[in-house]
Amino acid sequence: MYDFLEESSRLMHQAAKIGEINPDVVELLSGPARVIGFRIPLKMDDGSSRVFDAYRVCHTDALGPTRDGTRISPDLNLDECKALALVMSVKHAAGRIPAGGGKGGIAADSGKLSRLEFERLCRAYIRHLRPSGPDCDVPGADVGTGMQSMSWMLDEYEQITGRHSPAAVNDKPPILGGTLGGYEATGMGVFEVFQAAAEQIDFKLEGARIAIQGFGQVGSVAAQAFHEAGCKVIAVRQIDSGVYASEGLDIPELVKYQEENGSLENFPGSEPITNEELFSCDCDVLVPAALQGVITREVAERVKARILVEAANSPTTLDADELLLERGVTIVPDVLANAGSVHLCQMERTQGLSDDYWGSETINEQRRMRLVHSYQQAAECAERHGLKSVRLGAWINALKRIEEAILTRGWC
Ligand code: NAD
Repeated sequence: MYDFLEESSRLMHQAAKIGEINPDVVELLSGPARVIGFRIPLKMDDGSSRVFDAYRVCHTDALGPTRDGTRISPDLNLDECKALALVMSVKHAAGRIPAGGGKGGIAADSGKLSRLEFERLCRAYIRHLRPSGPDCDVPGADVGTGMQSMSWMLDEYEQITGRHSPAAVNDKPPILGGTLGGYEATGMGVFEVFQAAAEQIDFKLEGARIAIQGFGQVGSVAAQAFHEAGCKVIAVRQIDSGVYASEGLDIPELVKYQEENGSLENFPGSEPITNEELFSCDCDVLVPAALQGVITREVAERVKARILVEAANSPTTLDADELLLERGVTIVPDVLANAGSVHLCQMERTQGLSDDYWGSETINEQRRMRLVHSYQQAAECAERHGLKSVRLGAWINALKRIEEAILTRGWC
């Protein structure tokens, strides 16, 4: 059974050891700075009452306010929030973003709630959490939440405080002080970081064969970017269906087909494919863009791709990572590959604090520049330490920055 918290913590200790991070700093970062657990009572539409468990974990605020996702899913638990908050600290620090990692959410199945119940639950999350504002802790969206949920949460915050505070909640729409480019930030970023990695190893994009697990917000946007760059997306798998075409799928048509049919099944000119087949198919680039812990050592043994681009959070177990690196696979790690959204949130915050909003061109160029720079820095750090793993390079860079902030503050 994949233990996300154990794996993330092991990775942190491994990077800290190689990077010679101060042991007191490592001890401090081994657990979250703050954990808030609370229960939300909710009046249901039929007059009955239910209680939901909710959390907020703030890993470290050494570099700045803790920020990021609010997950609403039936099996959400505290350990998952702790692991995700640690990874968010690393993602921010590796991207030179002045923020720490925050994660939280509600253990609830939104599919079993009416729209009004879901709205009341989102609003109640903010009332019960009582976030202390843009300078302390800033919730954003995650699995099970999106622009509408974040709009309700921001509205609730502004109603409570009586102040216009767009920077108090991230991932809201532009009309409430959000930024342009939110939907495509992560998927486009996945492609841009892949491009930076490909350049470093002289990998030719034209005609490259791509396989993608997950064709949701991240996977479908990334697939379109690969397609437009002249790559052949040969395999795509969703939770309920998968499609394969050895000469490449028509991705814009596949996006339309999924919108119209709610599934990829029977897409003209394709054959069905399972997850197992997708992971071991004859591709050059494998992009897990759905779930954590799916590329285990057993799966890795069958992977034929030369490049693994981690669009999902922590899709590769540490022993699979080791095996793939030994086999010479280039791994573009999650904390860099899917960091498009954290860079976008940083831009959202800057715009919200100044109430001055930017055009798409500026946002897209800034996102690309920041992502490519973070990748290059992590690759350089890996090289300095004689490592094949850019993942460790990114974690060492991040821990070094957090360490410097902690020591400068005199916490250790
Ligand atoms: P999404 O819900 O829009 O899409 C996920 C897709 O994965 C769904 O379409 C679903 O059909 C598919 N899926 C689920 N289980 C599957 C399975 N067993 N086999 C094959 N496909 C399966 O989510 P998203 O926003 O695209 O996020 C995808 C991943 O990227 C998640 O791991 C998320 O944590 C990570 N991520 C997302 C963002 C973001 O900005 N959305 C940022 C960073 C990381």
